[in-house]
Amino acid sequence: MLAQAARRQEAGLAPAFRRRPEAGETPASGWARKWGAGGPPALLLNADFQPVSYRPLSVLGWQDAVRAVFQDRVQVVESWDVEIRSPSFTMKAPSVVALRAYQAPSRRTPAFTRHNLYLRDDFRCQYCGARHETKDLSFDHVHPASLGGRTVWDNIVAACLPCNFAKGSKTLKQARMSLRRPPRAPTAIELFEAGRRHPPGDLFENWRDYLYWTVELEEA
Ligand SMILES: [Zn+2]
Repeated sequence: MLAQAARRQEAGLAPAFRRRPEAGETPASGWARKWGAGGPPALLLNADFQPVSYRPLSVLGWQDAVRAVFQDRVQVVESWDVEIRSPSFTMKAPSVVALRAYQAPSRRTPAFTRHNLYLRDDFRCQYCGARHETKDLSFDHVHPASLGGRTVWDNIVAACLPCNFAKGSKTLKQARMSLRRPPRAPTAIELFEAGRRHPPGDLFENWRDYLYWTVELEEA
């Protein structure tokens, strides 16, 4: 049995961890209420202690985080005050882990999604320059779709609703409007930097140190 466990560990498989339920816990209390069905998550940092990605934020489920610890792919930076255990081992659930080997950012063109578009445009209307929350932004075809304008990175910009309405299905010239900057596909690194300027709002308090540090230094 022990030899088998050792072999599994050598093969990079973590033992089956379970968490230790709190006394008197019911499904509606404790673990589930505190963490949701997924259990306590771990913020995943790169080897330089910056998040691997900001948007979406790089996060591991607790089981993946523990597996990565056992595979020695990450080091534990901080832990939650929650115990998890296997038959032979007890540890605290990691809350922040860092990769041991640096993971270079992807060189692929980021996916053409509404969210990535807003990130590229810094959540600003590209006509009037005002910054908005996602719910108050829309996307606009610079060369109108009705005139054959395609839905691609270099023809779509973020626009506030009044500007979008004012432009309608006219060209820039017809609408007498101009763009803050010509749209194009962002690189993965540009989107990473944009994500860093706009960390997600809904965060665990102890993760903020890893997300806001550089932002605040640059803005100071
Ligand atoms: Zn606008």
